Amino acid sequence: MPRLFDEHQLEKLLKAADVAEDAVADHFHHSSSHWDRIGLELVSGEHLAAHEMLPHVFAQVLCYLVQKEDVRPQDHYRICVQDHNILRALDGEARDIFFPLLVYVLTHELIHVVRFTRFLQLYQADPDRKEREEITVHGLTHEILNKRNLENMPLVLEFYGHHAQAHRWPRVVRT
Ligand SMILES: [Zn+2]
Repeated sequence: MPRLFDEHQLEKLLKAADVAEDAVADHFHHSSSHWDRIGLELVSGEHLAAHEMLPHVFAQVLCYLVQKEDVRPQDHYRICVQDHNILRALDGEARDIFFPLLVYVLTHELIHVVRFTRFLQLYQADPDRKEREEITVHGLTHEILNKRNLENMPLVLEFYGHHAQAHRWPRVVRT
């Protein structure tokens, strides 16, 4: 059984999602209802389907094409937080970076979602383009979070840098 966030950590996850959603919405001049409109869901731990779990990354974004009656298929995004990998990476970490790390991870994934929904980036990009996009998204994540002055964020940036496999390129799942 993979390790899961406890109740206290799940509360922090929800707070981190609020901070990340506000920060990204502000940056892209979205209203706060934007996330509901585009069909976005945050899932973690026991709510992940088996195929949504990965062995190394902290989170991944999946885009499901959902077909409802009589309308064309709609994108539905799931940000899948990988409790077990985050907890393992933080084992032995004396500094209290759980919350800012979650804010960083979620901000990064939300920026991917915004850029996909605005067609600034495509899923089927070639490796060069994916690498450039990652650099852009990391740059935007820093820029957006620098303005928020979150405690311990410089430590998180350093920590994240040591976990090169922290994130997986978003992908489409056809249902
Ligand atoms: Zn990324």
